[in-house]
Amino acid sequence: MGMRLLVLTMITAAGALAAASPREMRPLPRLGDMPAAARFDSTHAYDVQSYSLDLALAMTNDSLYGRQRITAVSRSTGLDTIVLNCAGLTVDSVFQDGAARGFRIANDTLYAGIAPAGAGEHFALDIHYRLGNRGASRRGYYWYPQGGEALRPVAYTMSAPQDARWWMPCFDEPWDKADSGCAFAVTAPDGYTVAANGLLQDTVCAGGRTTWRWKERAAIATYLMAFHVSQYAHWADTARTMGGDTVPLAYYVWPSDSAAARLVFDSVPVMLACYDSLFGPYPFAKYGMAAVAPFMFGGMENQGMTTIHRGWITGNDQYGIAHELSHMWWGDLVTCGTWADIWLNEGFASYCEALYYEHAAANGPGQYMAQNFGSAMTGNALTHPVYDPPLALIYDYSMEYAKGAWVVHMLRGVMGDAQFFPMLRAYRDSFAFGTAVTADLQRLAERHHGGPLDWFFDQWLLRPGHPSYTAVCYHRTHPDSLSVTVRLRQTSTTGELYGMPVAFACSTDAGLGPRLTRWVGLPSQEWTFDDTLPVRRLVVDPDNYVLKAFSAPVPQLKRVVRGSYLLTPVWSRFGADAAGVAGYNVYRGNSAAGPFARVNASPVDDTLYDDTGLVANVMYYYAITAVCDGDTCRETRFSNITGQKPLGVAGEPGGPPLPAAVELRPNAPNPFERGTAIEFDLPAAGAATLSVYNAAGQLVRVLLDARLPAGRHSARWDGRDGGGRRAAAGMYLCRLTAGGRRLVRAMQLIR
Ligand SMILES: [Zn+2]
Repeated sequence: MGMRLLVLTMITAAGALAAASPREMRPLPRLGDMPAAARFDSTHAYDVQSYSLDLALAMTNDSLYGRQRITAVSRSTGLDTIVLNCAGLTVDSVFQDGAARGFRIANDTLYAGIAPAGAGEHFALDIHYRLGNRGASRRGYYWYPQGGEALRPVAYTMSAPQDARWWMPCFDEPWDKADSGCAFAVTAPDGYTVAANGLLQDTVCAGGRTTWRWKERAAIATYLMAFHVSQYAHWADTARTMGGDTVPLAYYVWPSDSAAARLVFDSVPVMLACYDSLFGPYPFAKYGMAAVAPFMFGGMENQGMTTIHRGWITGNDQYGIAHELSHMWWGDLVTCGTWADIWLNEGFASYCEALYYEHAAANGPGQYMAQNFGSAMTGNALTHPVYDPPLALIYDYSMEYAKGAWVVHMLRGVMGDAQFFPMLRAYRDSFAFGTAVTADLQRLAERHHGGPLDWFFDQWLLRPGHPSYTAVCYHRTHPDSLSVTVRLRQTSTTGELYGMPVAFACSTDAGLGPRLTRWVGLPSQEWTFDDTLPVRRLVVDPDNYVLKAFSAPVPQLKRVVRGSYLLTPVWSRFGADAAGVAGYNVYRGNSAAGPFARVNASPVDDTLYDDTGLVANVMYYYAITAVCDGDTCRETRFSNITGQKPLGVAGEPGGPPLPAAVELRPNAPNPFERGTAIEFDLPAAGAATLSVYNAAGQLVRVLLDARLPAGRHSARWDGRDGGGRRAAAGMYLCRLTAGGRRLVRAMQLIR
């Protein structure tokens, strides 16, 4: 299914590795180990073979009269009651071989008696029914008169996930497909066209009404059964498989959308060839699309006949169309065995958008993943695992589409294309026209991978959230450094660490170098990468194969404070590297574009630096780096760059005008840890005292007590008292006494 107008383990996997893992301690679902019939419902003691519907539609109201013929095979001895889902329907009669049978309806369930059938015995049941009084709830079957979004009167079904029961009695679970398919005989007034699953057999006109007979021979799940009725323009096209077979294409749209739709649908043969080449032959007798509106979704992958909102035509939603087409393999051919496994449908189809992008744009899928599936790190994906969502959330975009697509993409990254695509083929071949659960996929993936993958499926499917990586890169201070050291810190939304192979690549003047893969699985790890050319930048996960929050921070320069013939860059302490840094280097240039030269002799321990001996009113530019604590010859890339001009001496040529009043300026930085700069202005020469007091009013330190010229002055406090002892963290007061005035400002010392 597609969202409206798009702009596990799972299981098991025994093995020595799994046994050693603490993950094992958690009880895991073991669906894959149960026999298919007993897996989900012990009362379902038969196997559906086919559904045949004979439906009469008024098209002037939402009435629907029908007969449903179900054929099935008994799985038990003496089966005498058939239990079917049946919601909002009035059942008039039930027949078996022409004989009326007893039945009752309770709790949206139809219990119909049959002649006792032994195991393996075939039987057929005819149920005559109509839509009952559904009150305000309109589900399963939708009819709209012309008006508003409905350009023509239109009727259609929307069965996913559990609404087929609202328009036909059926066994409405994905895991018992009708093995021999389904058939429709839909009768509507002349002038209407009916589009449904399978191939059109014939049309019969009689008495102003026409019966359209469609037949789908392939196995089908009830949630994929659908018909559409409107005054449609329709046309045919063909696509070709890799094997040279022809696939008929059939489209049904409103006449006024016809010209646009022909252009929009023009790419379907290319999409079909793309998926055919990746996954194997297109599986059904035809592919079609029928447009409707109003429709609460963008598209729904009904088998061989996708329903789309007509907005996908007017909005030319190529990737929505590709998504639904890919469902023919992933959802319709191989169907999720339970709604707990919905990601096998939606994660796969969403990833197929990226595969089509890769094919059509000749670009890696990583870019599509980043641009379209970032919501995997938001919303319900933060609180619910992908596997086994609550039923109300099985079509949740962030969990099942976006994160589901990431799981497929990451599995490809872990396995590599040489394993991944053959595995997909085998998955298709093993479960074609049937159903699969997550454990089935894991088992196949492990076979192709040649080792356990429980660590992969477990962390990505059974856990909400995602990891966050913070990468701090240190380069040699020599500009032509041939190596880079990265410290990678991992956290996660749940606190549990993820283990993943992650690629790194050095960017040099020759481009991006070879991918070097390392196992990322600890809170903090460090590697050094070398290249034959100077390394300009280290790129983490260059092909975007890991779902993660990521940052590669550099130090932040906050401001540059002006002084007389001096400038003082002030920066934030660099906390991104948990191991700590040895200090900072300060770089100065005459242009924002550089070149920059280091001005400090050894790493600066403080978060500010007085750069003296400058020329007044000339612009200087600064950047800082953080220095690696283990190797002071390595430093981060530059911070942001900030420019400033030094002051001259007040009143002198080139200097600023004399201040008008005594002023004590805010100290910077504030709060501060090691030291802070305090500036003040004197309008005239005279005695000035600058002192620090604690919150109790006790003198801590006299910073300055002298006769000073007029102008701006500055002093520094290093957080120590008059005896050289480190003052405790807390609030301090800075007091300036000058020119008969006394001014005070608060300063916050942190430790
Ligand atoms: Zn979908």
